Amino acid sequence: MARPLYVWDYLQEYENEREDILDAVDTVFRSGQLVLGRAVRDFEADFASYHGVSHCVGVDNGTNAIVLALQALGVGPGDEVITVSNTAAPTVVAIDATGATPVFVDVHEDTYLMDVGQVEAAVTERTRCLLPVHLYGQCVDMEPLREIADRHDLVILEDCAQAHAARHHGRIAGSMGEAAAFSFYPTKVLGTYGDGGATITSDPQVDAALRQLRYYGMKERYYVERTPGHNSRLDEVHAEILRRKLTRLDGYVAARRAVAARYAEALAGTDVVVPAVAPGNEHSYYVYVVRHPRRDDIIEALKAHGVSLNISYPWPVHTMSGFAKLGYRTGSLPVTEAAAKEIFSLPMYPSLTESDQTMVVESLLKVLAAL
Ligand SMILES: *Cc1c(COP(=O)(O)O)cnc(C)c1O
Repeated sequence: MARPLYVWDYLQEYENEREDILDAVDTVFRSGQLVLGRAVRDFEADFASYHGVSHCVGVDNGTNAIVLALQALGVGPGDEVITVSNTAAPTVVAIDATGATPVFVDVHEDTYLMDVGQVEAAVTERTRCLLPVHLYGQCVDMEPLREIADRHDLVILEDCAQAHAARHHGRIAGSMGEAAAFSFYPTKVLGTYGDGGATITSDPQVDAALRQLRYYGMKERYYVERTPGHNSRLDEVHAEILRRKLTRLDGYVAARRAVAARYAEALAGTDVVVPAVAPGNEHSYYVYVVRHPRRDDIIEALKAHGVSLNISYPWPVHTMSGFAKLGYRTGSLPVTEAAAKEIFSLPMYPSLTESDQTMVVESLLKVLAAL
């Protein structure tokens, strides 16, 4: 049987960009500097300027981008960080790794994004940080969140791992908090050929702290000033690939939006619920999350058509045994829990061809008709 069609694939994109990617690798390998050299510096400058902020610190992955950002913002043991349970688990893994306590609010029924209306009631005297996740490629409603942060003297860290180039009332994701964390994991809207991440900020003190934290806590070579430190550097080879791919980011997002528009048109009139875009948002469609009460049957039936789907995410974080220590019970975040049972993702990546997409849609329509 032919290779199934997956929700994400990079092989066609690699064929399209192979010369440039191989040249990036060769350029780094011949540069004489494999770690924290010119490529990282140049990518950091370009990535900061793309977001209209003054600093970018490249790190080894998105999870550590969040860990280091929280620590650089002064968040640690005893502090509470308000976020959502409907997210990629690493958001919460990162908060937990700092010793701070994640506190969850529920999400909106239509966008599955943080319900900002619930945040203020979750603020306690221990709250230090609000951590909105711009999930699936779409921004959280940031203006009311900023008001709450200012009223209670809290910092905002944006989790932008899924929201490269997304915009909210014209402002780009990552430019609205005290800091923002990005992942460049291969599937992400801007992805490398391995792991990578970055934190951006316009606060020079946060930038300075991040640079130490990713480098063992060293202030200069061989002298540790800040603990606990990490080795969380972005590799030169990934920085050079990312620097080149950043120039194509707007094109990737345009291609994703075209795929999304074709799905929305093809699925109109079915009982599959397609993504809602909140007012003022420009979606970058990291994943294309739809909803149907017979989700599990649909996924199973589509396998026979050679389409392998995915769920982002099947388990709300607060229901996972690793986070039982947080004390949430099933039933505590009803919108999140209901969504997790019915959502699933359709294939979404810039190089998805129209004919493959048509195949997916036709298979899905057949499966729906036979339910
Ligand atoms: C991917 C992701 C992360 C973690 O990024 P890694 O590079 O895989 O460590 C964090 N938060 C969200 C929302 C993500 O999607």
